[in-house]
Amino acid sequence: MTTMYTHTTQGAAKGSLRLLQLYPRDMNIYGDWGNTLVLARRAQWHGYDVELLSYDPGEDLPDEVHLLVGGGGQDSGQERIQTDLAARGPELRAWAADGVPMLVICGLYQLFGHRFLTAEGSEIPGIGLLDAQTVAGRERLIGNISLDTPDLGRVVGYENHSGLTTLGPGARPFGTVLGEGAGNNGSDGTEGGRVHHVIGTYLHGSLLPKNPAVADWLLARAVEQAGLTWEGEDLDDTWARNARRVAGTRPR
Ligand code: GLN
Repeated sequence: MTTMYTHTTQGAAKGSLRLLQLYPRDMNIYGDWGNTLVLARRAQWHGYDVELLSYDPGEDLPDEVHLLVGGGGQDSGQERIQTDLAARGPELRAWAADGVPMLVICGLYQLFGHRFLTAEGSEIPGIGLLDAQTVAGRERLIGNISLDTPDLGRVVGYENHSGLTTLGPGARPFGTVLGEGAGNNGSDGTEGGRVHHVIGTYLHGSLLPKNPAVADWLLARAVEQAGLTWEGEDLDDTWARNARRVAGTRPR
């Protein structure tokens, strides 16, 4: 565990949140780091102090994590973390069951499921935190994508994966693909997976700068996890709204 950043307000903060970025060295592509930056910054704007930690293979997991974020990676990155992730699986599953909010993108979304079968036919085992499994497809599924979600409104992002993911009955989709876009597998119209307070999704982008409702939902769950009551501020999201509008009108 390494401390990446600490923010302490001058005045009285509403509380302090501990964020953990999982495997930033190997699983952090296509701007996924932006998700962590947004969470840290919006937490401050909402009046909460932030301690941002990172975890790479072989380190100690910190205690009392209030919010966990993980990004995507190439198959090679997934192979590099698989042994460590398998060892951490029981702790991460216990955190999720305890209500720790988590956002995992693409490669880590796949490995939070049961397994990823690569194009070479090898299996990278996942930790089964999400009831999902992934098989490499023949083509890459790339492009702008919008989703309708049951409780977080319209979500916009950019997908780039070859894995085809199928959810089992223990997971519910993050959203339904609107218009063009592949989502989990290009055939059942679903995108991403959710269980407890965990969101797994293929959407890079970064996701959160254009989807502040998702960021604030994660932060509200983190605040509850810290034993506090969420008291969000009314933030000016003009930039995010403009980015959403532009992203939502781009061709696939
Ligand atoms: N290797 C995985 C795939 O292509 C994950 C890719 C990613 O994380 N962007 O399906």
